[in-house]
Amino acid sequence: TRTLAETDPAIHAAVQQELLRQQGTLEMIASENFAPTAVMEAQGSVLTNKYAEGYPGKRYYGGCEHVDVVEQLAIDRLKSLFGSEFANVQPHSGAQANAAAMFALIQPGDTILGLNLAHGGHLTHGMRINFSGKLYKVVPYGVGEETMLIDMAEVERLAVENKPKLIVAGWSAYSRQLDFAEFRRIADLVGAYLMVDMAHFAGLVAAGLHPSPVPHAHIVTSTTHKTLGGPRGGVILTNDADIAKKVNSAVFPGQQGGPLEHVIAAKAVAFKLAAEPAFRDRQERTLEGARIIAERMLSADVAEAGVTVVSGGTDVHLVLVDLRNSELDGQQGEDRLHRIGITVNRNAVPFDPRPPMISSGLRIGTPALATRGFGKAEFTEVADIIAAALKREFSDETVAELRQRVEILAGKFPLYPNLSSDANE
Ligand code: PLP
Repeated sequence: TRTLAETDPAIHAAVQQELLRQQGTLEMIASENFAPTAVMEAQGSVLTNKYAEGYPGKRYYGGCEHVDVVEQLAIDRLKSLFGSEFANVQPHSGAQANAAAMFALIQPGDTILGLNLAHGGHLTHGMRINFSGKLYKVVPYGVGEETMLIDMAEVERLAVENKPKLIVAGWSAYSRQLDFAEFRRIADLVGAYLMVDMAHFAGLVAAGLHPSPVPHAHIVTSTTHKTLGGPRGGVILTNDADIAKKVNSAVFPGQQGGPLEHVIAAKAVAFKLAAEPAFRDRQERTLEGARIIAERMLSADVAEAGVTVVSGGTDVHLVLVDLRNSELDGQQGEDRLHRIGITVNRNAVPFDPRPPMISSGLRIGTPALATRGFGKAEFTEVADIIAAALKREFSDETVAELRQRVEILAGKFPLYPNLSSDANE
């Protein structure tokens, strides 16, 4: 019965400080979002106590009647949200969803094609020291240097030359839509499976604002905490009954032991919310915000400082700012924005001349601010603040002025007003 504050003041204080940080700054990390309090309530529930190895109706533990309800609701809602025949909601994370999907489809030593990490791919798509790079022979594809778009002719050439067993489409830092039908055509041409990792853009797909990979891919994986706005976690979708069986076995017992039923409950809540009209409105504002930021980063006063936008714009929830011709590197850009209360991450851009830890890019995303309530007016102001921060001149007066403008915006949309914040006491 002792509260967290009484039991562990050090952890309690850090949690309260993190709440204050989230409330007082502008969160623009493209992979982050704010989970609704109902989602956090489910995640903080007694379901954390329950072992439930297996699947609904087929468990290896007694007492699963209520978690069965929870997990079945999560499965049914996810299938209905994305129009898929089968769903597995147990992966603890996006990385584990990808590992299970690969275990289900291919064997160690097989060849996979995935987007180069340096061009916006994810670690699990074949990075050298990730499981995917260690277990499989990886052939990376990339973007064209002129267009900065994924070069489908190169994907086809590499597929024909290397005969992969699996082609992975999906990204962590790319600002355009993928041609899923074309990926599938190439996969069929060489007899490969197509796996689409929609972790970043799943929320846009759920809202009907981005093409769905589900009709095209053999397997679709996703996280549930990015644009989708739920708890941290992963999911796997497929329309193929045989693949579904293999996926279930690859997740449990292949990869994981007991599922996190408290997280699965939170996923179920998030899927319910994602089917509501307010969710679509939020995703529309997410897209509008990203377009506004891209346009501002392309305007003459910013271009004068050598700043531009990878691929010349965005169709999704993020903008990749290109600092290759700027005196400012990615680390410095991230630090400047941090000083004024805007959180982004530096990110390598394709053909980046600077080392990855420094990089020449910033990845700026709008999902979390859209969740907070930001619309056109606020995103226009944020874009202007970022533009001012990336220009040549950045004096202490500029910092103070921009920090104040950030605070006004943060104050306009209070975050988690019902969560007690006693860190000030
Ligand atoms: N897939 C993509 C495309 C991602 O961007 C990420 C996370 O950054 C993941 C998978 C991994 O998700 P997690 O961090 O939950 O393991």
